[in-house]
Amino acid sequence: MSADNPTANFIRNIVEDDLATGRNATRRFSGRPGPAALQAEAPLDPARIRTRFPPEPNGYLHYGHAKSICLNFGLARDYGGACHLRFDDTNPAKEEQEYVDSIIDAVHWLGFDWGNNLYYASDYFDWLYEFAEALIAAGLAYVDSLSAEAIREHRGTLTEGGRNSPHRDRSVAENLDLFRRMRAGEFADGAHVLRLKIDMAAANLNLRDPIAYRIRHGAHHRTGDKWCLYPMYDYAHGISDALENITHSLCTLEFEDHRPLYDWLNDKLAALGLLNTPLPRQYEFSRLNLTYVVLSKRRLIQLVEEGHTDGWDDPRMPTLVGARRRGFTPAGFRLFAERIGVSKSDSWIDMSLLEDCMREDLNERAQRRIAVLDPLKLVIDNYPEGQEELCHAPNHPLKPELGKREIPFSKELWIEREDYLDTPTKGYHRLTPGSMARLRYGFVVKCLGAEHDAEGRVVSVHCEYLPDSKSGTPGSDNYKVKGNLHWVSARHAYPAEVRLYDRLFSRPHPGAKEQGEERDYLADLNPDSKKLITAQLEPALRAAQPEDSFQFERHGYFVADRVDSRPDQPVFNRTVTLRDSWSKA
Ligand code: ATP
Ligand code: MG
Repeated sequence: MSADNPTANFIRNIVEDDLATGRNATRRFSGRPGPAALQAEAPLDPARIRTRFPPEPNGYLHYGHAKSICLNFGLARDYGGACHLRFDDTNPAKEEQEYVDSIIDAVHWLGFDWGNNLYYASDYFDWLYEFAEALIAAGLAYVDSLSAEAIREHRGTLTEGGRNSPHRDRSVAENLDLFRRMRAGEFADGAHVLRLKIDMAAANLNLRDPIAYRIRHGAHHRTGDKWCLYPMYDYAHGISDALENITHSLCTLEFEDHRPLYDWLNDKLAALGLLNTPLPRQYEFSRLNLTYVVLSKRRLIQLVEEGHTDGWDDPRMPTLVGARRRGFTPAGFRLFAERIGVSKSDSWIDMSLLEDCMREDLNERAQRRIAVLDPLKLVIDNYPEGQEELCHAPNHPLKPELGKREIPFSKELWIEREDYLDTPTKGYHRLTPGSMARLRYGFVVKCLGAEHDAEGRVVSVHCEYLPDSKSGTPGSDNYKVKGNLHWVSARHAYPAEVRLYDRLFSRPHPGAKEQGEERDYLADLNPDSKKLITAQLEPALRAAQPEDSFQFERHGYFVADRVDSRPDQPVFNRTVTLRDSWSKA
């Protein structure tokens, strides 16, 4: 990969430098703690890297995670390395197997695989505990018995240093005794914590004797009742990286201030001979901020729990399970991740960029079909009753090798309501009394007028067809008409439920302050984000399998819903319209 590669970014530059200088070449599996799957492997080839994607299984993955997944797995793929999937499951209160399963599905769906490298931080609990005892023995950790509130008070502020806890100078023996009794379950939640002994005067608050362990009496989804003592994220995360011989530990910018702690802890444990070296290095990049959605787990949970959407896999949810039902594609996400790149500056990405990536991918892979979403009857007065014939429509205009399919034509058709006007507006080239237009893949018709009901609403349109104008027959091109309408034969088409999805929020920055006033992001939900209609579909669509994507000509991309479709009766979700209708808004 060279510097002029379009996918170049600062992290790739670091990786390439490290590979060039052989920074990780000296790494050896030395019989120190680490997952068995890695111990069994040969020493890491110097030309390889190890990254990891470390989700906490406390929710469903969202579009932002896709950025991190594509980055971590993409680096491993492009540099012949490995990327681990590690569940950061250190908090028993919020984690569940359901989330573990959905995360595994989502990463696979995006097109990535971790081979044998599936890990759980909870598998390291024994080592994490042993290391804590080693830190205590080395005078680098102590048991504090202050209340949570007192600890907060002692911590100080950004402008003021902290104060030492009165328990900071407990002897090693006393600390070990208390810590073992914490593990044995002798104390209630909150009675004691284990703290790293760093520096209460440090300018960086994360270094002011951060908490490594707290007591939590509660079952863990994987370790059951074995523990009543759980490690904090900052304690567990860096050690887990080191145990797995991660070379480049990539995280979002909010962890920049945690890096000194990450390095302090691993340096100390390596000095105690407990970790392999060279140690992993942490690099931070800016998280994905995307307009017209929210990407915070807390808000996503609220959207589901309060019923603002139809669950985690609602096609409007910015979750990956939602994206999948929406018809967004893995290749579209990978393209998106490449386009937005990776940097250290926080910025907003416009939703239209993600939608364009999906259009780009779907334009390639989706076959074309015909659907009339707002049906109006068109009667061809001079076409014989009971007659029918076949027209031929290409399955993909750019891929003749995909062939054509037959679409039946008969006396009564369905066309879009908007394709007829009693009184045309300027530049209107569709049907209006006296006008001519082509029925795509079929005949040129001349419009005779319409029938109306008592309220004046159009109930059907009448026309005459020109028998020598059939598309694909000699001379059919002699007719020069501007309008080109899609249609289905009323006798052959079938009615089906179609769901027209649109953006979940109607404002680019849901809940953004206005004139200094806090606003509720829920007030920005788009009331028109889901519309159910009954459309008339061409017969070939009956055979669609769940998750098959199509371009409905002139309308957009649609996918057969993977949950509600039945054999011979697929339900279609609109993935995205053909063009961005929001840029004008
Ligand atoms: P929370 O911190 O609320 O638990 P989270 O979204 O950070 O939520 P994690 O499970 O910790 O959830 O995330 C796993 C990985 O995904 C982390 O490395 C995190 O940095 C990354 N990640 C999360 N959100 C984004 C985002 N919007 N853009 C890029 N990466 C993200
Ligand atoms: Mg997180």
